Amino acid sequence: MKTIYFSLTVACSLLVSNCAHVYTHARAHDPERAFNQEQAAPVARNVVLMIGDGMGAEHVWAAWLGNKGALNITSLPVTGCSITTSASHTITDSAAGGTAIACACKAVNGQLGMDAQGNHRESLAVQMRRAGKSTGLVVTKSITDATPAAFYAHTTNRYNTEEVAAALVEAGFEVIAGGGAGDFTEEQRELLQKRSKRCKLVATKECPPVSERGNWLPEQVAAALAVLETDSDGFFLMVEGSLIDAAAHKNDLAETVRETLDFDRAVGVVLKWMQQHPDTLLVVTADHQTGGLSLRGGNREKGEVNGHFSTFSHSGIAVPVYAAGAGAEQFCGVQQNTALAPKIRRAAAVVP
Ligand SMILES: [Zn+2]
Repeated sequence: MKTIYFSLTVACSLLVSNCAHVYTHARAHDPERAFNQEQAAPVARNVVLMIGDGMGAEHVWAAWLGNKGALNITSLPVTGCSITTSASHTITDSAAGGTAIACACKAVNGQLGMDAQGNHRESLAVQMRRAGKSTGLVVTKSITDATPAAFYAHTTNRYNTEEVAAALVEAGFEVIAGGGAGDFTEEQRELLQKRSKRCKLVATKECPPVSERGNWLPEQVAAALAVLETDSDGFFLMVEGSLIDAAAHKNDLAETVRETLDFDRAVGVVLKWMQQHPDTLLVVTADHQTGGLSLRGGNREKGEVNGHFSTFSHSGIAVPVYAAGAGAEQFCGVQQNTALAPKIRRAAAVVP
């Protein structure tokens, strides 16, 4: 028994050593002032749901260390965690993970907007829209990619891009921003422009990494809020830091930290906006953890992170949930990913 344990340990440490990275972040960004939870209104007129794709607690703390011990995300007053297992697998993919968050049902890996029995399930975005609220999606991958698509499409294969693109055109959301312009026909792009108040499709597929796209995500979030806040019935906005997952799949620690910090700056934009809009619920979470990242050291003063990836795929560990504003207290403790949407509806007093 001891020998087996030893050899397993050696095998694991060899695997981990192969993926070891040390990263020093050049410049710290200043977090916005945290939302004062005592100002939270009883009902959330507005909801902002922010999903860091693949962003486990380890990614958040790697970014925290890289940013010399300061983040917007970690200033949110309520914390919990979300169990990410799918209907078919211990380790979910983004389609089943997105569907669980968007549609409140465990789904089969690869499938969007439907439960394990094949029933189409309505998403939170659609329900909020029916309640009279404006709806927006802001992402850094293609807008037809699995996470955003879980909010408007129903298909047995997440890679049915034509079907997914057509579903977005039909959805009629007020704000759309992300990559994936090439997933739509010319006619569909015109329809999206006509039907939405703001449609910003930038790249053929996913947006470039943050080192090239700069402050694009925080700027798009600010622009989305400016459009959506004009609806007196309130709004639902989903923001995805999509490329955290891609960086972690590559086991690129520096890019993982940069993408997580970019997502954190977008959280800062929302927190600052919420200071004037206390009738808002902000929930920040992830669909799953990517890369099996662990932290083995670093230096907070220098912004140095010593991280190790154990896989090029997703891992099965539960992910963090952070919340602030109206109804935020519901999100503390351990919860299934399928519990998030019903809690958001309750906070917003929206009946499905
Ligand atoms: Zn992934």
